[in-house]
Amino acid sequence: ATFCPTGALTERDQVAEVMAVIRAKKAAGKTVVIQTAPAVRVTISEAFGMEPGTVTTGQLVAALKKAGFDHVFDVDFAADLTIMEEGTELLSRLGKGGPMMTSCCPGWVNFVEKHYPDFIPNLSSCKSPQGMMGAVVKTYWAEKMGIAPEDIFLVSAMPCTAKKDEAARPQLEGDVDVVLTTRELARLLKLHRPGVNFSTLAPESFSDPHGLGDSTGAAVLFGASGGVMEAALRTVHAVVTGEELPDALLDLEGAVRPNGESLHTATVPVGDANVRVAVVHGLQATREFLERLKAGEEYDFVEVMACPGGCVGGGGNPSSQDGDILARRTAGIYGDDVNMAVRRSHKNEGVKALYDEFLGSPNGHKSHELLHTTYTDRSVKL
Ligand code: SF4
Repeated sequence: ATFCPTGALTERDQVAEVMAVIRAKKAAGKTVVIQTAPAVRVTISEAFGMEPGTVTTGQLVAALKKAGFDHVFDVDFAADLTIMEEGTELLSRLGKGGPMMTSCCPGWVNFVEKHYPDFIPNLSSCKSPQGMMGAVVKTYWAEKMGIAPEDIFLVSAMPCTAKKDEAARPQLEGDVDVVLTTRELARLLKLHRPGVNFSTLAPESFSDPHGLGDSTGAAVLFGASGGVMEAALRTVHAVVTGEELPDALLDLEGAVRPNGESLHTATVPVGDANVRVAVVHGLQATREFLERLKAGEEYDFVEVMACPGGCVGGGGNPSSQDGDILARRTAGIYGDDVNMAVRRSHKNEGVKALYDEFLGSPNGHKSHELLHTTYTDRSVKL
């Protein structure tokens, strides 16, 4: 089954378009780059006949390099950058009325803009990791590499079609050229190399001399519901208290509903403050939660993902009849966090270098210019 309730309106197969760009890149003087989202590393394996939940990051990177992408970047780098920006924003907004809400899921952002525009001011002003990576690749990285931004063709591999919609927002200024869903990406790899077998491919690493291949366990958690919250709290806690806490800070109350959606809450001590958080996924649960906020419930920080289970449940992933599919993919994501050498976003060396050499400080002037965005009331007034 596929679950994403949000993006089908803009679904358009763009495999042929990307293959044509790769074929013509030399003659056209283009550098073709791809960024792969956290969820893709765990869901694409199913398209190659592997068990759900199998993490195939290294095989995916190897297959993409063989398919002709000049550089393969990890969206996890930008997820770490998002945590630096969003965590700083949260600290500046705490106690100033209303919860701050995450903005990395375009299905959720569309839902707010179209159905609950009164909550637009609550959305974090951070672009999603896809948007942040686009901005960084076409400024910082382009400058470092000595490539004109217009000669870089940036493809995103994403778990949903809502990300195609997001890349087309005027606020993203065309930083991402094409978005392929996980299913499209699997098709591209199979067309390029019929019979390609992930289980026998030698794994390769994301690599970049300028750090855009660096990532942490915190970032990979963006692929599953609750992950952005966990990643943000690891860093916010360290910034506020100067102490690194155990890796799982969140002890959520609530249960997954029969439709796969859920609404969990928790109170997390951060220094002298108790931060009231909520983690919601699925649009029915989201609607119910927003009504509860309107009725007066109070929170400080809210993570919302439109798809049940978060991005592992996105409709651009391979289809599956496995009743436990979300749990198996989620276990893959959490297992990957544990296996990472660095598990906190503020310890990502590439992100540190980006601030030192280019951006200045989180939420600083340049960050605001490149990494933050705006929202529009798109509700239909009857
Ligand atoms: Fe896309 Fe993830 Fe949001 Fe679903 S939860 S709409 S897959 S970004």
